[in-house]
Amino acid sequence: MQSEKTTLLSWLSAIAIGSLLFTSCGETETKAPPPTFQTPDSILKINTHMIDADGWEFKAQIVKVTGKRIFVTNEEYRRIFDFPLTMLSDSQLLVVTEWQAYKDYYKPDYKVITDYPVNINDTIVPDTGDFEMQVVVIPLKEIELRVEFTYQTKNRELANHMLGLLKRAIPAYEKKSGVPFPGFNPYMVLENLKLKALGLAGPTDAYLCSLDKASEWTLMHEFVHIWNAGGRPSWVTEGLADYIGYQGMIEYGGNFIEGENYNEDMKFWDEFKGTDKDFPLSEKKYGYKYEGTKAMVFWDKVNKEFGDEFTNACFRHNALNRKLTVEDFKELLKAHGEEDPDRITDGWIVTGDYRFE
Ligand SMILES: [Zn+2]
Repeated sequence: MQSEKTTLLSWLSAIAIGSLLFTSCGETETKAPPPTFQTPDSILKINTHMIDADGWEFKAQIVKVTGKRIFVTNEEYRRIFDFPLTMLSDSQLLVVTEWQAYKDYYKPDYKVITDYPVNINDTIVPDTGDFEMQVVVIPLKEIELRVEFTYQTKNRELANHMLGLLKRAIPAYEKKSGVPFPGFNPYMVLENLKLKALGLAGPTDAYLCSLDKASEWTLMHEFVHIWNAGGRPSWVTEGLADYIGYQGMIEYGGNFIEGENYNEDMKFWDEFKGTDKDFPLSEKKYGYKYEGTKAMVFWDKVNKEFGDEFTNACFRHNALNRKLTVEDFKELLKAHGEEDPDRITDGWIVTGDYRFE
């Protein structure tokens, strides 16, 4: 693919310049005695490792490790990408940081001192078949994030509008959660016609089914999952993806499609509230028809009562801990001035009579 070649070539040349710069500086200072490593030399000498990033395993060649992120290449993608060290397990973190320390000590020119080129912005290049790829660069707290969106060429207009939303939503989600973008860089978004669900996303990449069906609300929902994928329970992880995604849709002018109507959801909720379809959210397997509607209505009411600051605190807790128990939720309510947290959770989250309307 032409696009990947260009990326790889520009990378290779960037790396070459980086190495030259490094060696031309000259390392003359005397070295400390060799550090001792827990990882065997035989493992530290090799560059290719199986990396497990938040449950996503892949074979990667480590390029460099900085204080916060790891840079790797991968044969399948044929490019360099980076992601936060926090996505690695403790044992893998030990291996990769010792790998870097080992290279620094024994082979300092191994260190690549380049960073992402920042002059690429909103480029469209042909991809395979009827697809094209658009790249946008979004400045974030710690990185210049490259979002690479591959979609059917006929859907360019839809993709343009979606990318416009992402340019505002990704920095906003960073700010809301207080957690720097926890995904891969570049981050790939693919229109995948074989996808059975509407969308799918996590720290590694995102998929949408055909763009017209997937909708912008789905996109905004999925991008919340870059922060809270795999989190529990569903009324928090999915409920916040719906609600925070919805806030973004309103704030940034997202287009809703037929069937996406929050006022209708509210009416539907009034119809099944208190019936045999209405269960406390913490006690029933989550489904989108009833539980999803109820969770959306709940987060909206909670946000109206306690403000964005509270909603964002829940998002942050869910992103950092991958869970938010009913007890955690009550603690956060107390911290935000609620003296009787049961008033909020009764009926909605746990068994009891509704007192919060
Ligand atoms: Zn979801």
